[in-house]
Amino acid sequence: MFKLLKGGHCYTPGDIGIKDVAVVYGHIYRVDENISRNILPDMEVLDCSGKIICPAFIDQHVHITGGGGEEGPVSRIPEISLGEILSSGVATVVGVLGVDGITRSVESLLAKARGLEAEGLNTYIYTGSYSVPTATITGKVISDMVLIDKVIGAGEIAIADHRSSNPSIEQLAELASQVHTGGLLGGKAGILHLHVGDGKEGIEKLFRLVYEYDFPVEMFVPTHLNRNTNLFEQAAEYLKIGGTADFTAGETSGKGCSVPEALSCLTRKGINLDKVTVSSDGNGSIPAKDGQKTGIGRVRQLYDDICSSIISEKINPEDAFKTVTENVARILKIYPRKGTLTVGSDADILVLNSSDLSIDKFLIGGDKYIDNGNIMRKGRYEK
Ligand code: ZN
Repeated sequence: MFKLLKGGHCYTPGDIGIKDVAVVYGHIYRVDENISRNILPDMEVLDCSGKIICPAFIDQHVHITGGGGEEGPVSRIPEISLGEILSSGVATVVGVLGVDGITRSVESLLAKARGLEAEGLNTYIYTGSYSVPTATITGKVISDMVLIDKVIGAGEIAIADHRSSNPSIEQLAELASQVHTGGLLGGKAGILHLHVGDGKEGIEKLFRLVYEYDFPVEMFVPTHLNRNTNLFEQAAEYLKIGGTADFTAGETSGKGCSVPEALSCLTRKGINLDKVTVSSDGNGSIPAKDGQKTGIGRVRQLYDDICSSIISEKINPEDAFKTVTENVARILKIYPRKGTLTVGSDADILVLNSSDLSIDKFLIGGDKYIDNGNIMRKGRYEK
């Protein structure tokens, strides 16, 4: 019930040095030096000396019901398991539908999100598929947002992609209006999450939405912006005007840059990383290359890319961690409940081994999901 994490190097994600973290009833009760185990009865003490403590990760782009299907029905990807998400240090996911709004539905996305939540995760979804007008539950994006608690925006809506419906600027503006107003009426973030493909125009329409209309810039979260170098350059410009740029883990096409390279490059350019986020595109399809079949993206790639950013590219741990914790939580308007280690926050906490950043412990709402590197819980049908 009560836990005391003793003597870990704490990143909130800001670096606050060696601290103890007391967890009471699923929330962070105190973060301080030398907290006594006697502050409350029956404190379970977890020795974290020599380890790193940081907030659990938030992954805002996971195909929880399975993506893919671009090589016909045989290539439809199955639903994700709890174990894959847990092994990635992710406590909060946002589910997305993707390209297939015909044989897959927002209804099943909602049901899967509820199932994962019953298994211990924090879950949200975006309503919609690639196309505009897009798939919904109620018939309208704005109604989904106001009436369905888990819907925090629309996405992933495709632009600059041969699989998109090639929405006009007016169509995107009308959609953005529903998302923004739905967010206001529903009391939630109101995010328009844009899948950006390899198409020629990149995020030109997004610049126009920001410059020519009155939408708040923070409502737009374009993703896959590291998939080719032109798009990455546009992303750097978009960050300079206060926009958010989301990079996808596991970029290996050779046309773009990996997440560690992207973070390193932006740092060298002197661009603040506060509006930079990273997501996995987990359980979606990886495009076929070199005559291979399409593959499955892994949520775990998010974790691996953050570790590589710190270990190989020497990105500050606090900068790397914030791209999957605080920055995402602020954009999704779930901060400071999520994405930080501060008094009153939900106790979604990772304890990492300092040598290789492997996961030693993982708490969600103060409960142990990984201990000594072993996953303690399984989804109902997991072996
Ligand atoms: Zn996508």
